[in-house]
Amino acid sequence: MGVDLERLKTNLESVRSRIEAATRRSGRVPGSVTLVAVTKMVSSSLVRPLVNLGAHDLGENYPQELWRKAEDLSDLSGTIRWHLIGHLQSNKLKRTVPLVAMIHSVDSLKLLRLLDEMFQGQPHALRVCLQVNVSEEASKHGWSTDAIFEDAEAIAACHNLSVVGLMTMAARATTAEEARPSFARLRQIRDALSQRTGLPLAELSMGMSNDFESAIEEGSTLVRVGSALFEGLSP
Ligand SMILES: *Cc1c(COP(=O)(O)O)cnc(C)c1O
Repeated sequence: MGVDLERLKTNLESVRSRIEAATRRSGRVPGSVTLVAVTKMVSSSLVRPLVNLGAHDLGENYPQELWRKAEDLSDLSGTIRWHLIGHLQSNKLKRTVPLVAMIHSVDSLKLLRLLDEMFQGQPHALRVCLQVNVSEEASKHGWSTDAIFEDAEAIAACHNLSVVGLMTMAARATTAEEARPSFARLRQIRDALSQRTGLPLAELSMGMSNDFESAIEEGSTLVRVGSALFEGLSP
């Protein structure tokens, strides 16, 4: 069965216009929020037309799924920027890192240091965000809001990486309004950590299908949207 291209196009346009509206509403510069289309569990045959419709930043949670899709779509490798947004085990570093434009989900000092070592002497630094578990749910990866400040110096010492910002996920089953305080909190942590480390930390990766508008109003620069793009389509 073919992909319902019209539906895909409508979904993408709708998400894009909601992003633009939220950006305008919050008095921010148009185009200052990047849509990362989350393609986890979505087949390459549906990702391909999405890329052709202009969605060039793609997010995957699972390294192995990312490897497979990067291979399926290797003819589009010049236009796709892959973002890893899920937990990365150290035994998957070597194969994953060369494929990605950014890792949003660096969730421990150990992983940060391993990545920093990998990039020693490399001409291009990898862009990474540090994941903060703002909602403090046990099931979530990332630094706690206290622990990230304890590691501030060690983070600033990772000179082979570009630590560009912070990432968080709102608590499970919250509405956009319930999620808002978590987003505001991440922004405050960013401001304080930026002061502490001297790193600009310009990026805030926050907001998913259910809550990206309030995330943008709270300063998100990277929204990670999956299900809203694929609504009404078979994966
Ligand atoms: C699945 C996932 C998303 C996208 O969630 P949707 O609700 O489908 O938009 C964003 N970020 C992370 C880390 C995810 O795992």
